[in-house]
Amino acid sequence: MSRARSGGPPEQSREEHHRRSAVANRRYPGAVPYLVHPDELQSLCPGEPPFRARQLRDWLYRKPVLSVDSMTDLPPDLRDSIRHRLWPFSVDIEQSADEGATVKWLFRAPDGAAIEAVLMGYRDRTTLCISSQVGCALACSFCATGQFGFDRHLQAGEIVAQVAYARAHLRDVGLSRGPNRLTNVVFMGMGEPLANYDGVREAIRRMVVEMEMSPRRLTVSTVGLVPGMRRLAEEPWSLNLAVSLHAADDDLRSRLVPINRRYPLEAVEAAAAYFFTRTGRRISIEWTLIDGVNDTIEQAAALAPIARRLGAHVNVIPLNATPLSTDRPSRRDAIDRFVGHLRSLDVNVTVRDTRGADIDAACGQLRARRSTAR
Ligand code: SF4
Repeated sequence: MSRARSGGPPEQSREEHHRRSAVANRRYPGAVPYLVHPDELQSLCPGEPPFRARQLRDWLYRKPVLSVDSMTDLPPDLRDSIRHRLWPFSVDIEQSADEGATVKWLFRAPDGAAIEAVLMGYRDRTTLCISSQVGCALACSFCATGQFGFDRHLQAGEIVAQVAYARAHLRDVGLSRGPNRLTNVVFMGMGEPLANYDGVREAIRRMVVEMEMSPRRLTVSTVGLVPGMRRLAEEPWSLNLAVSLHAADDDLRSRLVPINRRYPLEAVEAAAAYFFTRTGRRISIEWTLIDGVNDTIEQAAALAPIARRLGAHVNVIPLNATPLSTDRPSRRDAIDRFVGHLRSLDVNVTVRDTRGADIDAACGQLRARRSTAR
């Protein structure tokens, strides 16, 4: 299906954005550029001609840099006025792993909220994993973020600033592997993106319209919020959708992913099929393999027909153990057996590497480590 790019947010979403920006700005000292709608950056350039706002917009979204000192065509007064609030967060922790091919940040917003993002360089692509919420209310049993509960939604500007920061890092510092430009963004960090629909939608709009990223390079991952999946299918961008199933029967899935009690497997599969029909984008199924829990032949056999009906690719991810859970990753032989059985049933499957395991790169782990250490 051919899809048009959006020229801007609809009126209702703009009003909602203003309301959210006002709430967010109360947490911050002075107006923060990424928390201001891109159309209204002139408010940060009082007394300056309109082209200043356009220059600032370019620096924020088209060619982000780590420091305002690199914004060489802006006058010194304007640079000084945003110097200490260019980013809507400070960098609490920066860790690199995989010989410099992975870098992970724990950002800290002025209200204390922790925001995680992981940048991973591969031979042919550079992928950023971003957060959409501070914590998460959905309490999946194996997830470090879920174990800490929900604090708040991230603002659109806080989400898109993670992308801008990673682009600036790639430009100014770089990674040891992969292209030194951001090629892919996945919403697989802290939070359930479809539970923060308006914030995520506006962040995606800015990535596509302001940053000129291809929607085909953006992936939204959900544990199956059916209304949000259907809404996302109606948006004007053909994004990728990753559905985190983790179990192929309702009993086990409700235990691992409690939201399954509200949106059971059949409804999630129907919403995924609708997304595929509307957008033409292939669905991927995410499956975190947990030792002795969902790594059995029976689960593989139950998953296969779902994957085949959806034409979905299955990504198997060995669990990253968390400090607050007794769940353990599957053993190598169990992974091979699970994957082999899926393949024997004509399912496309990939075992993902666990990037940055030595720096707690899975969703919520850096924050969990820091919290349990306190
Ligand atoms: S896996 Fe995702 S949806 Fe589940 S608790 Fe963690 S962040 Fe929330």
